[in-house]
Amino acid sequence: MPIPPGLPYHGRWNRYSSWLRARYGGPTARVPVDGGFSCPNRRPDGSGGCSFCDSDGSRSPVLGSAGSVAEQADQAASFQRARYGAENLLLYFQAFTSTHAPPARLRELYDAALARAPFRGLIVATRPDCLDSEKAGLLASYRARGLDVWVELGLQSSNDATLARIRRGHGTADFTAARNLLRDLGIPVSAHVVFGLPGESEADMLGTVRYLADLDIEGIKIHDLHIPFGCGLYREALEGELVLLSPRRHRDLCVRALEILPPETVIQRLSTDTPPERRALPRRAIEKAGFLRDLDAELDRRDTWQGRLYGAGAAKAATSI
Ligand code: SF4
Repeated sequence: MPIPPGLPYHGRWNRYSSWLRARYGGPTARVPVDGGFSCPNRRPDGSGGCSFCDSDGSRSPVLGSAGSVAEQADQAASFQRARYGAENLLLYFQAFTSTHAPPARLRELYDAALARAPFRGLIVATRPDCLDSEKAGLLASYRARGLDVWVELGLQSSNDATLARIRRGHGTADFTAARNLLRDLGIPVSAHVVFGLPGESEADMLGTVRYLADLDIEGIKIHDLHIPFGCGLYREALEGELVLLSPRRHRDLCVRALEILPPETVIQRLSTDTPPERRALPRRAIEKAGFLRDLDAELDRRDTWQGRLYGAGAAKAATSI
């Protein structure tokens, strides 16, 4: 079957790296910073939280030991320019819940970091129940200053029973409300999803993807479940209660997810990076480059592509990116 003309990507899926090149016209990099936020889903002493999350709060391994956000932005921007020749920089508030502070404090932190380099964009990762119209309005104000603004919203699953099981502390309705609030302000959303959560069937996982496709989500990060030492799921794993997806099964789910998603959705991630010293399971993580080669080969073999099964008649989002 020929790939239809006019798709918004080359190849068979909408890779973030290609999308960035097309959007900014040159090498582009994210500059991750840790704003020192905590998480509303944890107790004041830091305990509790989602059952797959350890004390680092899903903090990226590329974040070093943090100084102020301004110092972090300086260091990370210099690193990205020197190491990768990045000409375009996107400031990325990544760790924990990066809207978990009063709006005035958020503005102070965002402004302090943005002042350190000629950033083209601001990306903020948060939970869907930690956004209100005032915080969303603050984010929208950076669009008025000429920056691209994206919000990364954790969903993980659209199955409320799963969300309760993994102690997310919010439901799918919170995600829908946050997505709609941001869309009305012209702010694109990248959804975080995990494949392989406890108790989830293939229908549950693909149901989550369908839910996001129906929302015409602008971006997605799909993770395979990693279990860090010390998190709630680690204890379940020790008791033999958990079965992780094999790389091959995860690849097959990714192929099917790509078919369901809109062609325009930017695929920002398809596997998980957890540093080996924090990762209890899987013992051997998916190797990203090999996984992507395998995925491409499988898409070729099945002669399929992103958006092939995207529902005709699904409402188109107003957000342009
Ligand atoms: S909301 Fe994020 S930071 Fe908070 S416990 Fe869950 S995964 Fe960890």
